[in-house]
Amino acid sequence: MPRIPISSPRPFVYPTSGLPLHCGAVSLEALARRHGTPLYVYSADQILERLRLFQQALAGRDHLVCYAVKANSALAILKLLAGQGAGFDIVSGGELERVLAAAPEAAGRVVFSGVGKTAAEIDRALQAGILEFNVESEGELELLAARARKLKRTARFALRVNPDVFAETHPYISTGLREHKFGVDIRRALAIYKSVAGNRWLEPHGVSVHIGSQIRSADPFGAALERVYKLVRQLRREGIALKSIDAGGGLGIDYHTGAFNPAEKVAEWAAAVTGALEGFEGRLLLEPGRFLVAQAGALLARVLYVKRNGNKTFVVTDAAMNDLIRPALYQAHHEILPVQPRAGKPRTVDIVGPVCESGDFFAHDRKMLPLEPGDLIAVLDAGAYGMAQSSNYNTRMRPPEILVEGARARVIRRRETMADLLGPESI
Ligand SMILES: *Cc1c(COP(=O)(O)O)cnc(C)c1O
Repeated sequence: MPRIPISSPRPFVYPTSGLPLHCGAVSLEALARRHGTPLYVYSADQILERLRLFQQALAGRDHLVCYAVKANSALAILKLLAGQGAGFDIVSGGELERVLAAAPEAAGRVVFSGVGKTAAEIDRALQAGILEFNVESEGELELLAARARKLKRTARFALRVNPDVFAETHPYISTGLREHKFGVDIRRALAIYKSVAGNRWLEPHGVSVHIGSQIRSADPFGAALERVYKLVRQLRREGIALKSIDAGGGLGIDYHTGAFNPAEKVAEWAAAVTGALEGFEGRLLLEPGRFLVAQAGALLARVLYVKRNGNKTFVVTDAAMNDLIRPALYQAHHEILPVQPRAGKPRTVDIVGPVCESGDFFAHDRKMLPLEPGDLIAVLDAGAYGMAQSSNYNTRMRPPEILVEGARARVIRRRETMADLLGPESI
């Protein structure tokens, strides 16, 4: 079984010319034949290598990688990560149930983020004994105190502060400016911590920050954490000693080229973050989502038709925007490879799905080797915010998910059936 070197950003390779695209040692053609298309395929080895990059970069200090469950919440992936010591960042009661189902022993390694926690969600998390609530408003802190008193359980909390740092990314996934709905203004944080200092049900445990997603430069992380650490020092002078700083997630990948060195990116990120926190003795939490799972996954689809309208050529596949919405939602770019490349000149095509929306596309004006009906394509870097954001739009059943571990491939979620879709309805 060929090992994937850490410097390789993707586990999907043609082992030798003439052979179809593989995930590690497993042929994607064989997987598609066996399980049908559309089909999500993930490399477990790649996910664990990414986790190890963070763990190694922070080996010298107390830290905990809390995987952001929303990026890909497959139970098997949660279990895989928990088995290597990861904790979890959750944003809903539903995600908490997923962690408890996949890895109940990891409940104490869960941080709970999100601007709209309900009393029921808070209660469940208090009972589960999670590590910390990342509190996003004064109202939430009041509710947390009331629920903790009621259940007679101390709630460890961190204020999620908004450092007012601009991170260059898509506006939908930028979160660190004052105008965003997330967190509390860092200038108000000191007063909020002080206002609950005497509350026996609230333990000021940490402070957290998350400035956005798909951030390609390490600089904004450093800038945000400098501001956070300044707050931590102010709090200490006031007698409030925090045990942890949560640096959030958001480290981006390169969706375009294969010349991306994840180890280098993690090293840059770690240097910026630990540089900003020099002198902080507590625990560093981090919440990577995309960086751990995006490049480990691909969406396999079969070409149904190749049609020409005017001077455009459309390649219509059996996967659609309901399976992977990132191109439609964020104008996201995904590299697309033919699973078995054909000889011939590349042609400029649009790759689209069958859903009745012009937004249903995977690529516009993309140069691709010739594609014919029946061919398989792999939409790369689809492991994060792919299946997690999928839907049943157009009454389409969600695809199955396959996890590849070494030379072994197993179904971690079966294809949905019509019965799954119609089950909750009545006439
Ligand atoms: C979405 C999110 C993350 C993960 O973001 P990535 O860009 O996937 O790393 C981490 N923390 C919080 C609070 C989030 O909302």
